Amino acid sequence: MSEQTFIIVGASLAGAKAAQELRERGFDGRVVLIGTEPERPYERPPLTKDYLRGESDRDKAYVHAADFYEQHEIELMTETTVTAIDTDGSQVTLDGGRELGYDKLLLTMGSEPRRSSASGAELDGIYYMRTLADCDVLRGRLADGGRVAVVGAGWIGSEFAASARQLGLEVTVIDPLAVPNEQIFGAEIGTFYRDVHVQHGVEMLLGQGLEAFEGDGAVARVRTTAGKVVECDFAVVGIGITPRTGLAVDAGITVENGIVANERLETSTPGIFVAGDAANAWHPFYERHIRVEHWANALNQGPGAARAMLGEDVSYDRIPYFFSDQYDVGMEYSGYATSWDEVVFRGDREGGEFIAFWLADGRVVGGMNVNVWDVNEDVQALIRSRQVVDAEALRDPDTPLGSLVADPAA
Ligand SMILES: Cc1cc2nc3c(=O)[nH]c(=O)nc-3n(C[C@H](O)[C@H](O)[C@H](O)COP(=O)(O)OP(=O)(O)OC[C@H]3O[C@@H](n4cnc5c(N)ncnc54)[C@H](O)[C@@H]3O)c2cc1C
Repeated sequence: MSEQTFIIVGASLAGAKAAQELRERGFDGRVVLIGTEPERPYERPPLTKDYLRGESDRDKAYVHAADFYEQHEIELMTETTVTAIDTDGSQVTLDGGRELGYDKLLLTMGSEPRRSSASGAELDGIYYMRTLADCDVLRGRLADGGRVAVVGAGWIGSEFAASARQLGLEVTVIDPLAVPNEQIFGAEIGTFYRDVHVQHGVEMLLGQGLEAFEGDGAVARVRTTAGKVVECDFAVVGIGITPRTGLAVDAGITVENGIVANERLETSTPGIFVAGDAANAWHPFYERHIRVEHWANALNQGPGAARAMLGEDVSYDRIPYFFSDQYDVGMEYSGYATSWDEVVFRGDREGGEFIAFWLADGRVVGGMNVNVWDVNEDVQALIRSRQVVDAEALRDPDTPLGSLVADPAA
């Protein structure tokens, strides 16, 4: 029986999956999973989708059944915040002052919504979306109907807008970019998503930022930088997230765009690991540090960090992946494309069933399948192969994607 204590700070997807992995790998020391929220660990994607719309139960959002933690002797401490890490003494301080010693520590503090600094941002009726508690409040607002102004056309804003529209609200989306997510995917995909929202009756005010929230006590309208005034009953802000790094900074752990880690997900302080939204980890395939703010990264990196804590040989090199659902448009994206030369489409772009490939120097660096399924492995294999591919063959739906990846053994 191990005498060791492994502490995990942040009881969400990455943390819960790490705790599970420790037990599955036979670690029989103490596992303490500490989280600020009152809930046991849950997944956030349903909070802008089915759970927000009242189409799925709360229970479906949880990572594990209620008795999982007790059954696996994982000490889950909810409504508890770690306020400090003493790296010399190998202990953490909890709110209330209690101290807990650790042998290894995993940081999975995730991220928090960036706050608007616009004039009037302190008015009532302005919401952010991160937690189940946020979602429950917004479910109430949606049930009242009316008009909502959504600030930010990123994934959170866009998914919230789609759900609100599906529930019959009048929805206006405001974003300074010409089309949604233009900086990440370029104009073609951005235009596709803009049109999806317009077709569903959303007013898209693009190419204009937010100037101010206005109202007497509570927001009643928003004013854009182009001078447009949008009347609303409430507003939702989705303007990106910031990794939670304060604890690490105070403890002297290296932080730069997240908590910096090597490919074993170990931070600059030996014995302290990081996973999920908070991690800016060295990626062996991309040969640089990357921070990924998506579900699949938390799901897989948590267990990866757990294995590293157990001393296993870990080199976390998964190709980043995420998904989004808006109305009847489902998509998956793989890759990490920071620059590209062209975007090549396969399938029916107008009809909304296609795969887009981002090409740099003739190589696939990103792929998005929209309402086309079971192609993800092929897309990732193309990215991983780093092969130059024939754009015509990529466009041709009769050429199986798998056939474009040369057999490395051949
Ligand atoms: C509404 C919403 C919808 C999303 N939809 C998608 C989607 O469709 N597809 C997709 O790929 N991704 C989606 N994501 C992103 C995905 O949910 C995140 O990448 C994922 O939640 C990251 O998990 P995490 O465990 O790293 O951190 P988080 O989920 O942020 O959890 C961190 C936890 O740590 C706790 N904590 C922080 N500091 C402390 C402390 N000092 N002490 C104790 N506890 C602490 C926090 O309270 C929090 O519970 C969505 C996110 C949101 C918010």
